[in-house]
Amino acid sequence: MTRHAALAARYGTPLYVYDLDEVALARHELFTALPDGAELFYAFKANPHPELARALREGGERGCRAEISSTGELAAALTAGYRAEECLYTGPGKTIGELHEAIGRGVRVFSTDSVTDVRRVGAVAAAHGVVADCLLRINSADASATTSIRMTGTPSQFGFDSETLAEAMPSLRRADGVRLAGMHLFPLSNARDEDALIGEFEHTIELAARLSAALELPLRLLDIGGGFTAPYGVPGRRGSYPNLRDRLETALDRHLPGWRSGAPRIAFESGRFLVGAAGTLVTEVSNVKISRGRRYVIVDAGINTFGGMSGLGRLMPVAVALELEPDGPTERGTLVGPLCTPGDLLGREIALPADLEPGDLVEIPNTGAYGVTASLLMFLGRPAPLEVLLRSGEVVSASRIEHHRSHQPVPYARTVVEAGALG
Ligand SMILES: *Cc1c(COP(=O)(O)O)cnc(C)c1O
Repeated sequence: MTRHAALAARYGTPLYVYDLDEVALARHELFTALPDGAELFYAFKANPHPELARALREGGERGCRAEISSTGELAAALTAGYRAEECLYTGPGKTIGELHEAIGRGVRVFSTDSVTDVRRVGAVAAAHGVVADCLLRINSADASATTSIRMTGTPSQFGFDSETLAEAMPSLRRADGVRLAGMHLFPLSNARDEDALIGEFEHTIELAARLSAALELPLRLLDIGGGFTAPYGVPGRRGSYPNLRDRLETALDRHLPGWRSGAPRIAFESGRFLVGAAGTLVTEVSNVKISRGRRYVIVDAGINTFGGMSGLGRLMPVAVALELEPDGPTERGTLVGPLCTPGDLLGREIALPADLEPGDLVEIPNTGAYGVTASLLMFLGRPAPLEVLLRSGEVVSASRIEHHRSHQPVPYARTVVEAGALG
């Protein structure tokens, strides 16, 4: 029996298995590819499992910080051992309530997307008697590379448009409770082409240096984003970036010569590259049926367990493929989940082992990022999958996300109805 089959027998399916050794390896690979002394923020969005995040923080100088965007991710980061000062809080719609919680718990660095956002961070920081560092997220007017997802150069809820930032500066400078501390750019995601990625980073460095000089904007921290690639639900290896380090060091020496002594500090961000390959989703075949000549293999994990976000149509379309035995017989089939919707499709007419039967296991590789929490967990009311973590082949954690309805007192229901608030 394989290790995954043994785990499935012990814990049941669907089951996510994460290998912490693989997480450590990915972290090592990425730090090695980055300029000397660069900082790396782990994007909790990719997988907020605290034990996975904890493994990314280990490693001293080469440990990750946390990029978070909600109070839930903040709680996960603190549980995982990140100190609040190691967190960068991002997002275009921060509310006063969440800012009170974040600042109250010690978060001091925010990526901000508008004048309102900066003012709001400042007002809450001032109410707590502290000063918060704001990075200005920049939506660059021009771009250097073409990639799958462009998040700059077009209208966006993210960031300040670079061409009109100058007009916003007087208001930004007047905001209480904040110190303008640098810039944040995140121009692209999942870049398979190293040259394109480097080109984008070079553009970012040049733009940040230019804006900082032209607007006298202090640059203590420059977060130049990420875009490091990893396969999603298909076999394969994460990206490799053999030239990145040298070329970025050259660009930094040219445009921001103080960077080697930490002025500015340089930071990157990554989610999928760090955790994608660590995960395998182990599912069990519940049924195999033929409909008008097409073979349907129904497994116990659907878009409630993996790939629900593909409904967004742009982030990560799910089209899984399996790691097959080199000489094993295969047969096409459509891999679907158990949900009562034809949209519960994992892979259409893909190569599957021949003769799959109910009770057989199907393993979907590279599912450590954008798995559980990027799925339609509540849809159709099935339990969330179990998540098991291995270190050196040993299980070190096994848990499951629970969702339940929490009833609130309703003493004012009558008043609300009378006031017409429901009508
Ligand atoms: C989603 C996100 C990331 C992580 O993206 P990956 O493609 O998983 O590396 C990093 N930074 C920000 C600001 C993000 O929104």
